[in-house]
Amino acid sequence: MWSIEDRIKQTKEGKAFQGKNELIKHYRGKRITMSEAIKAKCYDCCGGYDDGASDCEVVNCPLHPYAPYSANKAPKKLLTEETRVKMRERAKTSDFGRSRKA
Ligand code: SF4
Repeated sequence: MWSIEDRIKQTKEGKAFQGKNELIKHYRGKRITMSEAIKAKCYDCCGGYDDGASDCEVVNCPLHPYAPYSANKAPKKLLTEETRVKMRERAKTSDFGRSRKA
């Protein structure tokens, strides 16, 4: 069984492709975003892209449209102007991302 330190060490030795830093961040117990989690998972799943960064071609994987090197990217979400206005208003009143130190 690999310890977390072993996993961090092995990942640090891996090639510098998308997902490497995110995977290390995850192993260190840091909070990562959904996008970072997908990159980290794909980096791990592809063995650190040891043969080079390329599409894994596993099209039946639910993460495939969001994988960093996918040739079959999910379409970008298009927001209406009304939605953008609501999001801006919500961001003004939300404390998400702000330091809790007072
Ligand atoms: S998209 Fe490909 S690399 Fe990413 S988790 Fe799925 S099978 Fe693995």
